[in-house]
Amino acid sequence: MHHQLDDCIFCQIAQGNAPASKIHEDELTLTMLDIFPATPGHVLIISKAHFDDIFTASPQVLAQIAINSSKIAKALQAVTQADGLGIYQLNKAAAGQTVFHYHMHLIPQFTNQNIGIHSKQAADPQQLEAMAQQLRQALNE
Ligand code: AMP
Ligand code: ZN
Repeated sequence: MHHQLDDCIFCQIAQGNAPASKIHEDELTLTMLDIFPATPGHVLIISKAHFDDIFTASPQVLAQIAINSSKIAKALQAVTQADGLGIYQLNKAAAGQTVFHYHMHLIPQFTNQNIGIHSKQAADPQQLEAMAQQLRQALNE
């Protein structure tokens, strides 16, 4: 069993105790859609075990997330037809981190749209699920 925290939302998701639009899962990581997407297709890759940030995350987890990011990037490209892809990873409040469980953001970006990392607008759950389904399919192609 991974080391996890009861009051951490990403640990709850990793354990299957909180809902998520999941796209991919392996021994060490889980990939899902952000519920406050900066743009449609905003993806988070999280560790299954709890690590606060890059300062404590294991090299194995960091490597697996990096490896998975290239596959997810290609699936996002195919599904969203975005012009670019921003990859962000925030550590500690001073850097803007809001969920203190290690994760990487992948955010499709479009020419001449200046999109930040955080949105205040929750996504429509049906749209999230439709996007997750397309990404799961693209990953398997
Ligand atoms: P950060 O500021 O880098 O810690 O990013 C945390 C991200 O997690 C934000 O973009 C939130 O919108 C997102 N988030 C928070 N709770 C959930 C959740 N239950 N499911 C999916 N994404 C979440
Ligand atoms: Zn956690």
